Amino acid sequence: MKIQSRRKTPPVGVGNVLLGGGHPVVIQSMTDTPTADVERTLKQVIELIDAGSEMVRVTVNDDDAARAVPEIVKALRAQGYTAPVIGDFHFNGHTLLAKHPACARSLDKYRINPGNVGRGERHDENFTQIIKIAVGHNKPVRIGVNWGSLDQELLTALMEENAKRKNPESARGVTLEAMVQSALSSAALARKCGLREDQIVLSVKMSVVQDMVSVYSRLAKECDYALHLGLTEAGSDVQGITSSAAALAILLQQGIGDTIRVSLTPRPNVSRAREVEVCKAILQSMGLRYFAPSVTSCPGCGRTASDYFQYLAKDINEHIQHNMPVWKKRYPGVERLKIAVMGCVVNGPGESRHADIGISLPGASEQPIAPVYADGKQLTILKGDHIKEEFTAILEDYLRKKFA
Ligand code: SF4
Repeated sequence: MKIQSRRKTPPVGVGNVLLGGGHPVVIQSMTDTPTADVERTLKQVIELIDAGSEMVRVTVNDDDAARAVPEIVKALRAQGYTAPVIGDFHFNGHTLLAKHPACARSLDKYRINPGNVGRGERHDENFTQIIKIAVGHNKPVRIGVNWGSLDQELLTALMEENAKRKNPESARGVTLEAMVQSALSSAALARKCGLREDQIVLSVKMSVVQDMVSVYSRLAKECDYALHLGLTEAGSDVQGITSSAAALAILLQQGIGDTIRVSLTPRPNVSRAREVEVCKAILQSMGLRYFAPSVTSCPGCGRTASDYFQYLAKDINEHIQHNMPVWKKRYPGVERLKIAVMGCVVNGPGESRHADIGISLPGASEQPIAPVYADGKQLTILKGDHIKEEFTAILEDYLRKKFA
């Protein structure tokens, strides 16, 4: 099935990155350190960028955080990092941005939540104040609606209107409608305040896959703004990764989404950068972007002679990860390389021929030999106790010849 062409959104310039307008889908992430702690936040921003995050968002929740932002950005640039830094504002963004112009200047984009800018008259006043500051500093803004903090006045009004209908919608349907309306009416207000179409990014985040797909599909039909995709509060580990991948894949397949984030609950002692790795894996598995060679490996079955192929697949993956920083510079295009590590003769030779380079290990009751294939042809046969070392050397030689 073909991926539909991307929506024709006006490209939004965020620092040196372009979102939308047919540009590649951009990966972003968010720190979880207290922003006021310059050293820790800077370290984590760098960790996320090094992992492949192309934009990083930091919380700006109080005066100390607002004072820290220019320091963080300055130190980041001094180390040669150019990735845009985005400020995440809730409740007091209007005050902080007005009180700390250096913070407003140094951020590359502001993220504001229309459900968290104040109630009643204060809502539009505060929202307008933030937008005017963005216009003054020529900064783009993401209007990020979140169903956990949806504009309650708008939701109540829509619920009351719905209750009077002959055939009322479900409460869920009204909530989704409120999310779309909140995003679109906020964007309209931002335009009135002078923010250009190419300075607005919208998002409507929630934690249920089907709802997210439905609300983004609707938003994509109703506007031309660039869209940031993410399943919020996706959960941890397997649940968070699979739910995010399912939701993002359905939307990206339809050409919807200009930037993505995977919001994983971090596991103790696991790097925050895992969310970036997942974003890269999603985009690469869909053939939308390429970051590192991919390894096709079989799951193993009753024909598998030993767990050797599992270790070989793991070692090759680690070898790629370890060498990618050098390979990227030395072998342009290496990120599209396909390597196969297979467990027996059933699919081993076939998969290995389909890959650029592959090895088919001997299964149970097969001769203890491992044919290696390159560019669809058998290159050699390995046997003995050093298959891993020999295959790795063949791989390195292949890279030198093919990409150098
Ligand atoms: S390639 Fe062989 S070992 Fe691997 S899953 Fe298929 S049949 Fe089993």
